[in-house]
Amino acid sequence: MRYDLIVIGGGVAGEKGAAQAAYFGKRVALVEQSPVLGGAVANTSIPFKALRETALFVAGFRTRNLRGIDFQMKERATLRDFMAQEHALVRDFRFKVATNLDHHDVDIFPGQASFVDPHTIKVEHLRRPPIFLSADVILIACGSRPYQPPPFDRVVEGIYDSNTFVRANCMPSRLAIVGGGPIGCEYASILALLGCSVTLIDGNDAFLPFLDSEVATLLQQSLLETGTDLMLATRVEAVSDGPPFALTLDSGLELKADAIVVAAGRIGNTDSLALENAGLAADGRGFLAVNASFQTAQPHIRAAGDVIGFPALASSSMEQARMAMVHAFDLKYKQQAASLRPYGIYTIPECSMVGETEDSAQREGIPYVVGRARYRDNARGGIIGDDAGFLKLIYSAEDMRLIGAHMLGEQAIELINIGLLSMETNGTFQTFIDACFNFPSLAELYKYATYDAMKRRQQGRTQGSEIGLAPATDRTPA
Ligand SMILES: Cc1cc2nc3c(=O)[nH]c(=O)nc-3n(C[C@H](O)[C@H](O)[C@H](O)COP(=O)(O)OP(=O)(O)OC[C@H]3O[C@@H](n4cnc5c(N)ncnc54)[C@H](O)[C@@H]3O)c2cc1C
Repeated sequence: MRYDLIVIGGGVAGEKGAAQAAYFGKRVALVEQSPVLGGAVANTSIPFKALRETALFVAGFRTRNLRGIDFQMKERATLRDFMAQEHALVRDFRFKVATNLDHHDVDIFPGQASFVDPHTIKVEHLRRPPIFLSADVILIACGSRPYQPPPFDRVVEGIYDSNTFVRANCMPSRLAIVGGGPIGCEYASILALLGCSVTLIDGNDAFLPFLDSEVATLLQQSLLETGTDLMLATRVEAVSDGPPFALTLDSGLELKADAIVVAAGRIGNTDSLALENAGLAADGRGFLAVNASFQTAQPHIRAAGDVIGFPALASSSMEQARMAMVHAFDLKYKQQAASLRPYGIYTIPECSMVGETEDSAQREGIPYVVGRARYRDNARGGIIGDDAGFLKLIYSAEDMRLIGAHMLGEQAIELINIGLLSMETNGTFQTFIDACFNFPSLAELYKYATYDAMKRRQQGRTQGSEIGLAPATDRTPA
């Protein structure tokens, strides 16, 4: 069977790549080995976000301003009890993916794809003879799976990865999380709020070092306040049989845990693809290298999403797949991939960022000025009762263009998109000064953070000091 495009993988990258090409009239086949579509978003990310919403509810986090009303948990529940809405959400998401592909007349082939030659794919299914498909263009979007480094590289009840933990029928009293990246931190904050005693262990000595340092410090504080024990610059050398488990740390300390979640990175799902038949090879972690047009070493074979490694986010995976198709089929409607990548971390409280941090601006020698606004000084922030939330904007001191936005607090992941759009359109301070925002709304924080930045810029000029290169520790609200 001949197609214009074969897509390997029905996660978000495969779905968006397939739909994009089909939208522009290409004949598309998509191969998915799992009985259901949606990939990691459906199987892990959505169940996990559902758990987060439940945690926010049962812990009364969203009712903190309703003084006198007690939303304490009545009895000890298991993770599965908290996942009541998961099935409906996952089913709904998978249905949306299937419907989207169906609307675009994409032919779906259930089974495992592997290369026969650079243009031919074999689809193997347990209950059917193999099917052979060929195409001018192939998009590899086969995603990734959790990486279990030693001493966790064995299947033991009680040792989970980020995929399996959301479905575990347990609620451990003592939980050790190995890996302090975004996923490890998200798990830590949610499980601590649900009443687990959580220890988060990470080999790095800095906490989420890609975040703006003020946001990282506040997030770290809030993790500590919910009872999470944070062990940075620490490695696990051995783990006993269990549960309960004894983890031997490189400091010589021993840590007891009833369950362990290993969130120590991911590996690409390329081992079943027979890449050698296409003249391709993955790196040691199973990831494929691509150029700016998402071409592999074989120009007609593109790759997008988690299988190409960093940043391994659903948001960027979808854009990569769309751009791969734009280049492959010379579609004119979109010229380039987004230059800015937002990050959202669904911890409690959530945080988000886009663009430069103070650290990166300093490293790159960009003169900048910072403006801050706090939820507690904002009418809606007061109503919500989020005292710790804040927005920090970083403007280029020369022309007051917005070059970075950082946020911690409720709806931060939504609100950062305001900064993102301003930056995408080269917006300056004037955008926020001129805008009339809804009241009461958290969006207003952008206006007040901008006033703060203008005041600081003026002060810097009056005092004749170099603008921007020092205020990292100044946390005075505007
Ligand atoms: C706990 C967790 C939370 C996350 N939270 C966020 C978040 O908040 N925001 C965000 O942007 N991202 C988040 N992510 C990351 C996001 O889920 C991934 O970046 C995204 O799902 C990658 O999509 P993909 O299509 O590249 O791969 P996948 O979703 O992994 O899909 C790949 C598909 O290919 C199929 N496949 C593999 N090999 C073959 C083969 N040989 N033949 C046929 N089919 C094959 C697989 O079965 C799978 O369905 C999170 C991830 C995790 C684990």
